[in-house]
Amino acid sequence: MKEQVFDEEAARSLVKELRVNFAAGKTRSYDWRVAQLKSMIKMMEDHEPEIVAALREDLSKPEMESSIYEIALLKNSCVLALKELKHWMMPDKVKTSITTFPSSAEIVSEPLGVVLVMSAWNYPFLLSLDPVVGAIAAGNAVVLKPSEVAPATSSLLLRLVGQCLDSSCIRVVEGAVPETSALLLQKWDKIFYTGNGRIGRIVMSAAAKHLTPVVLELGGKCPVIVDSGINLQVMARRIIMGKWGCNNGQACISPDYIITTMDYAPKLVDVLKHELEQFYGKSPLESKDISRIVNSNHFARLTNLLDDEKVSGKIIHGGERDKTNLKIAPTILLDVPRDSLIMNEEIFGPLLPILIVDKVEDSFNVINSSGSKPLAAYLFSNKKELKEQFVKTVSAGGLVVNDTTLHLAVHTLPFGGVGESGMGAYHGKFSFDAFSHKKAVLYRSFVGDAPLRYPPYTSKKLKLMKALLGGSLFGIIRALLGWS
Ligand code: NAD
Repeated sequence: MKEQVFDEEAARSLVKELRVNFAAGKTRSYDWRVAQLKSMIKMMEDHEPEIVAALREDLSKPEMESSIYEIALLKNSCVLALKELKHWMMPDKVKTSITTFPSSAEIVSEPLGVVLVMSAWNYPFLLSLDPVVGAIAAGNAVVLKPSEVAPATSSLLLRLVGQCLDSSCIRVVEGAVPETSALLLQKWDKIFYTGNGRIGRIVMSAAAKHLTPVVLELGGKCPVIVDSGINLQVMARRIIMGKWGCNNGQACISPDYIITTMDYAPKLVDVLKHELEQFYGKSPLESKDISRIVNSNHFARLTNLLDDEKVSGKIIHGGERDKTNLKIAPTILLDVPRDSLIMNEEIFGPLLPILIVDKVEDSFNVINSSGSKPLAAYLFSNKKELKEQFVKTVSAGGLVVNDTTLHLAVHTLPFGGVGESGMGAYHGKFSFDAFSHKKAVLYRSFVGDAPLRYPPYTSKKLKLMKALLGGSLFGIIRALLGWS
């Protein structure tokens, strides 16, 4: 039997079918949105062991990380959307101005239509379905293209979404470059892409052909500034959790490098080493509490960064690797030069270089002169002025003071990048907004029709119009009295 291929023709007919179903109004109703969100929660409850198993197969992800950072976070998104949806869907009443008096106005959130969500492999369950929650909540039909780099989760998503959600309006398409390219040739009403900036550019060019808006959730090098005089143990534990405790550093907001001063570095390194051993034992390659590297390409990329002659003598902790099982131990490198390979690309793995500056304040310049704005930046300090300076001078998708990665779990904060780390944002209400058009609606009646705006135009009308638009009461009186 001939294998079915998902080509341009298949992509076109899929979008056409979803457009018909969207146009029929099915996805717009509050009840449909609620039913899908409830089904998604039930899907997670009924299939949690399979989800955990798929994530273990793709990444050796520990159950704790899968259950909390992939499943529970997604469940929270659904629960919040269910709780707030009525409120989110309600038009926002807004003020009007004297120029339209008498009138009223509101902003109506309407679904965009048929949207495409493309996700990445590192949190392949959460990053696939979390944007879909926003798309459903906002009343759209949606196609999800999970990452082929996490194949077990991708095929599980195809099966579970097909079984549990309304397949007349929500579909999963699996595949790699040919299938994604076929999807990208179609006209979408929004494309929500999570992944690296190189493919982000491909996505954006494809979207530009149809004037399709995009959200690009990209990555970058997330710095951590460590000031002196802090609680070293708490700092070390929080850095370790953000780095190795988040998919072994394969997370977009994982700390990428530390910046500190020469005299504080030895204390920092000692406590990091000590806490790492507490968490993962003396043989971290054997620890069950740490993910593996996703595949041999990424393993080779990471070992290549370590083997760069500019940094190979700088490894002060870890460095062990197990090629067969795709494992690299938590590795710390001290005083790496800024022109090394490791400092010139997003690491996205278990290597943590430390940069040395003369004064901690110099860190801001290191970040700002790196040429791109990070997705997240972190500061550990007790000094009020330093915190203020950090917030004022460092431009990044998000900032956290005295912890790492946790801003992601605060649904009242937008999650997204700036510059090279992306555009647009989601989470909480921001997800609903990302997939809604904010329609401006002005209501007028037939009373209070002012002849002022109609021809024949006179200088008195002009003066009065100018005074009205300028909001000057004195000007309006002058114009009415005919004073020049
Ligand atoms: P990936 O390789 O899974 O690619 C992402 C998506 O792009 C996949 O769906 C893939 O099929 C598609 N793709 C790949 N090549 C393509 C091509 N030539 N044309 C069209 N589509 C193509 O994931 P990745 O890019 O390796 O993910 C890691 C990157 O993603 C890192 O930079 C990380 O920081 C970033 N990331 C960002 C976030 C965020 O929320 N901002 C989250 C996770 C990862």
